[in-house]
This record gives sequence, structure tokens and C-alpha cells, in this order.
Amino acid sequence: MNLIIVGPQASGKGTQAKLLVQKLGLAYFEAGDILREKTKENSLIGKEIDLWMNQKGKLVPDKIMVQVVAEWLDRTDLSKGVIFDGFPRVVDQYLFLRDLLKKKGLRIDRAIYLKISRSICWKRLRARRICPKCDREFNLITRPPKTDELCDDCQVGLVQRQDDTPELIKRRLKTYEEVTKPLVTLVSKEGILVEIDGEKTVEKVQQDILKHLKKI
Ligand code: AMP
Repeated sequence: MNLIIVGPQASGKGTQAKLLVQKLGLAYFEAGDILREKTKENSLIGKEIDLWMNQKGKLVPDKIMVQVVAEWLDRTDLSKGVIFDGFPRVVDQYLFLRDLLKKKGLRIDRAIYLKISRSICWKRLRARRICPKCDREFNLITRPPKTDELCDDCQVGLVQRQDDTPELIKRRLKTYEEVTKPLVTLVSKEGILVEIDGEKTVEKVQQDILKHLKKI
């Protein structure tokens, strides 16, 4: 089963995708993490990605994204299926992915859309914390650490993500409305959209997703 998971920032895409990976054994393309890893490389492409992600808070240009995805697909075992999280975010990326998979004899079976309100997005993004040592993600509201703002694994003080400032959050949510919403409309027309209420608990959202996937 090949899936994409879409939704605004902090809608729980990563959390739900990881649970699906554990349960269904899917390969996992996590756009944000793969890009953040690239920014740590001392390469030209890494520097360019850092500029778009962390300085401008804008989407990384499609020409870079398609290169990153194509490389990843070529070195990944897709035999048990795959879930794309954070990619595609715009219609052109979706069309590119659809064509690329088609060349491999594959298709996107479902697009899981996690719907949450703008105010919940804000609250969750402002409460998001990451461990600067191991990159583990927490949320003071939905997934708090065991001890006050310390990583459960490393006991290191948690920090906010570089792009979780009010200014960049505002810009990212605007981008979502402008370019990702049309993608949701397109996959809906194609009949592969599964709309899920992302404001419920992590467990309930996961159950709802699995219930829909059983019907395939
Ligand atoms: P995320 O961790 O999913 O919130 O992504 C963080 C940042 O990575 C975004 O604000 C973009 O700069 C970049 N990014 C992630 N996915 C994509 C994508 N599909 N296309 C372009 N840029 C992306």
C-alpha cells in the first residue's frame, strides 16, 4: 500500500506516519527530517535547503525536492509499500511523484488528510519542542516529556525548532493555505482522499486511519 499523508503543520502527520510504518512495515519518506539531515552536510545543496527552510521559512524549491525524492526512491526497498510524509505539498510535486511511481509500476493508493483548525495548529506549533542532541520531538500539550522540558532519552534541555517562531509559523501556515490546499482538492477529485479529524487523540486518529485503510 502506497500512501501520502497531508495536513497543516503540527496536524500529527509524523506521529501517525510513524505508527503506520511500525504496523504496516512501510518504507518512510519524511520530507522535513530528510531535508534537515541534508542541511547538516557541508554541501551546496545542504546550504540552499537551509536558506529556504530555516532562514526564509519557505518551501524548498521543487527542483531540489524532486532530486531528493528521486534519489531516495532509487535506494529504497518499496516492496512492502511506502508512506510519504511532508511530500508532496504542492500539486506539481504530487504530479511528479505520481509519474515517478508509475514508471516503477506503482501508484498512490490513498492520501490521508489530517484536518485541524488554524488555532490548534498555532497552539501545537508554539508548544513543540525538540531535543538538540537526538532530534526527538515532544509537544508540551499533546506529547509532553516525562520531566519538565528535558528529553526523555538524553536528559538534555529541549529547545524550539528554528522555524517555529511566530513570524515563520505565520508564513508557513499561509503557504499551506495557498499551495497545499489545492493539492487536497485535487486528490479529493481523484477519489483517493481519506479525510480524518486530526484533533482527536493520537490513538483515536490512528484507529480512524486504519479503519479506512482496511477498506482498500
Ligand atoms: P516540516 O518538518 O514538515 O514542517 O518541514 C519543515 C520545512 O521543510 C518546511 O517549512 C519547508 O521549508 C521544508 N519542506 C518540507 N517538505 C517540503 C516539501 N514537500 N516541499 C518543499 N519544502 C519542504
